[in-house]
Amino acid sequence: MQRRKFVAAAALSSAAAAAPPAKPAIDGGTPVRATPLRAGYWGSQYYDEKERAELMDVLEGQSPFRWYGTKPPTKVLQFEKEFAARMQTKYALAVTSGTAALQCAMAALEIGPGDEVILPAWTWHSCFNAVVLAGALPVCVEIDESFNIDPNEIEKHITAQTKAILAVHLQGNPCNLERVIAIAKKHRLRVLEDCAQSVGASYKGRPVGSMGDIGIYSLQLNKTITAGEGGAVVTSDAALFERASRFHDLGGFRAPHQQFTGEAKLDWFFGTNFRLNEFSGGVLLAQTRKLDQIVGAVRGNARSVYAGIRDLKNVKYRLLHDPDGELGTGVFIDFGTKERCDRFLAAMKAENVPAAKPGGSVILPTLPHVIEKKTIHPNWPSFTSARGKAIRYGAETCPRTIDILGRFGGVLMDPKYTRKDIDDVIAALRKVVPAMV
Ligand SMILES: *Cc1c(COP(=O)(O)O)cnc(C)c1O
Repeated sequence: MQRRKFVAAAALSSAAAAAPPAKPAIDGGTPVRATPLRAGYWGSQYYDEKERAELMDVLEGQSPFRWYGTKPPTKVLQFEKEFAARMQTKYALAVTSGTAALQCAMAALEIGPGDEVILPAWTWHSCFNAVVLAGALPVCVEIDESFNIDPNEIEKHITAQTKAILAVHLQGNPCNLERVIAIAKKHRLRVLEDCAQSVGASYKGRPVGSMGDIGIYSLQLNKTITAGEGGAVVTSDAALFERASRFHDLGGFRAPHQQFTGEAKLDWFFGTNFRLNEFSGGVLLAQTRKLDQIVGAVRGNARSVYAGIRDLKNVKYRLLHDPDGELGTGVFIDFGTKERCDRFLAAMKAENVPAAKPGGSVILPTLPHVIEKKTIHPNWPSFTSARGKAIRYGAETCPRTIDILGRFGGVLMDPKYTRKDIDDVIAALRKVVPAMV
């Protein structure tokens, strides 16, 4: 750039920075955008001829079943191989959903009646349900400002019956896994990583899901990559893989999976059917090959937003235990009180850059059916033990979780946001946030 032009540009941008921010739309100013910006679903926006070709292979080959058919099926098996490689684990098992994956993980870890599993108070229904459906007792723990389980709150909930910690990485942000794993080691507990909302995220350089004893992912529409529905279990432990595979397929261990581990080591036990079909396997294979591209895009957008508002004073962000590894699902800010956060949400909506509360999960202990321990049968073993009868859920058991989720709000990211979209997000935040924090 010519020096004269550069000086002029610099003067202009410093003048813009010094100028008072434009009037927020909620106070009668002009909205940043004429029409609302909307974050979309991620993986499905990347569907193209790759997914089409995979689907056509299955259709034309007339081979929709994963284990056999007119033409030897390959899609689910290939997906499992490539997914395991991407997650840096020895084995991956494809299943019909993230919820199914959690149930397989429970079976793999031999969790059952009399056992207790520690999980965050804020997470998706599936986590609590999988523990109950295994006949075990869910024990909820408060979250920290990463919106994930607070390691400082775990040990007080450990009993002689505790068998595992469900370490959930919510809304793209890994939990404090180092501390969780250290606590688990000290008390000889298993760690199950639920990476449903963080497919493709990493923690201290390693993919989430690869550091606990076993990991699960959801491949449902709302997650990073998708076939509408789908899930996966990963582990590097051959025995855990064999148990998960057997559970997902009625108790048997098929030859292709025996080839993964070298041999079958266990006998049949009672399992269910969570097998994935070849259509879904083909789509997920194509999507797995795009995972890094999608993660790179969404992460890049979140980083641009952070950079665009970095100079705003007194802004406290969501706690990131590994800023390099998080997905960048959203950029969340602490507004101190629920009232201020609600005003932020209303002000952003007026700018046509809608903001959101933390989402995609529920505060489990506050749900009526959790408080009432509503199982499918009155003698369901989760709540018939002395401890199961004594345990109390309810809002009073998780005040800090409720407080944190009440006062944080932020903008959600989309991997396909344009530079203009990102600039609008930044412009809206620069108008609205200084008035709120
Ligand atoms: C989505 C989700 C699941 C369940 O996945 P489905 O594929 O919907 O069954 C489990 N855990 C968490 C944290 C989730 O967000």
